[in-house]
Amino acid sequence: MALETEHFLASRVKSKLTKGLHDVNRLAREIEKAGHKVVRLVQGEPDFDTPNHIKKAAEAALAKGMTHYSPVEGLEEVRHIVAEKIKRDLGINYTPEKEVLITEGGTLGLFIAFMALINPGDEVLLPEITFGPYLNMLSLAEGKPVFIPVERKGKYFVIHWEEISRLATPRTKAVLLNDPQNPLGIVMSKKELELVGEMALKKDLMVISDEVYEKLVFDGLKHISIASLSEELKERTVLVNSFSKTYAMTGWRIGYNAANPELTRAMSRIYQGSARCAAPFTQMAVKAAIEGSQDCVEEMRLKYDERRKALYNGLAAIEGMVVPYPQGAFYIFADVRAFGMSSWDLTLHILQEGHVVVSPGSYYGPGGEGYIRFSYATPREEILMGLEGIKRALDNIKKK
Ligand code: PMP
Repeated sequence: MALETEHFLASRVKSKLTKGLHDVNRLAREIEKAGHKVVRLVQGEPDFDTPNHIKKAAEAALAKGMTHYSPVEGLEEVRHIVAEKIKRDLGINYTPEKEVLITEGGTLGLFIAFMALINPGDEVLLPEITFGPYLNMLSLAEGKPVFIPVERKGKYFVIHWEEISRLATPRTKAVLLNDPQNPLGIVMSKKELELVGEMALKKDLMVISDEVYEKLVFDGLKHISIASLSEELKERTVLVNSFSKTYAMTGWRIGYNAANPELTRAMSRIYQGSARCAAPFTQMAVKAAIEGSQDCVEEMRLKYDERRKALYNGLAAIEGMVVPYPQGAFYIFADVRAFGMSSWDLTLHILQEGHVVVSPGSYYGPGGEGYIRFSYATPREEILMGLEGIKRALDNIKKK
């Protein structure tokens, strides 16, 4: 008898997960095989190499034999240095032994935060245009997303955070922030953070704050963490961060969560029963990243800024495309409704006709249809070449 695997699958993996970008990537590879150059404006990761002093620290740790388990929560010296980093950057005091958990990256950090807080049927508030994987994670935790409206007002996106007071029900457990935001490129103002904080307190909600793009802010803005606003908010917040974006370390799988002691204990239990611990030599690499000169971070940020301007100016010059101005992370989320195609079809069209890989807005939550996400984590020359391809592809569509 043939095995009916479906029958054995847990309900949490049967629920519909958002469609990935496999089809787009497959088509891109076919075009390349046919001998064409394909430009990728799709990357969710830095294209820079990890700075050398960080690699060297990992090599030294390996040479010292740091290849065994570390404590579940991370090496003591690394938890200490992370607490110091948070204090230095955000002005928040966390007790390293009780409130800091080293994780294998932001994705896992978010996942364990969800697993520690969400019961089946619990609601989580998040913007209707959002980082796609949140919806997968929430579905695996059997939670229910409740979407906060997002509006495009001319050159800016506005997330209607004030709607939290209307949308929160007794089943709502948490509000999920991502600041700076992928894919919108928004950097939240102190006023907005205060508003969210006020409502979290009023509605008795936890806050999950994904701050992985904290260092990628432009135009003289500065990232503020909601956890820094008051002791009460610090207690309610799980601060999720990673070294992936700041130090170009996506493949190293390393980050941290900071939260109150009880929640940190709960998250370490989940961590113990899943990933166990982050590799000690990787932990030593991020210790070097924090202790070393931060010039590499600024150098990369300046490069992103140049690319941001090049991509923004190029896209804004295309007739029919409405391009909100991004101030953080490394994405532009442009309104392409004038081209009269679904964002998925337009993505395929741009790839087929212009040989440029982008991502469809529909991947980024229910409010994303009608938009395309462009990433500028790619060299400027590639961006300029990509813009030519996009123009070529869009020129032969009759605009509405
Ligand atoms: N949050 C957001 C908003 C992201 O864009 C990403 C990476 N694309 C992550 C979290 C996860 O990053 P990592 O797991 O590499 O730390």
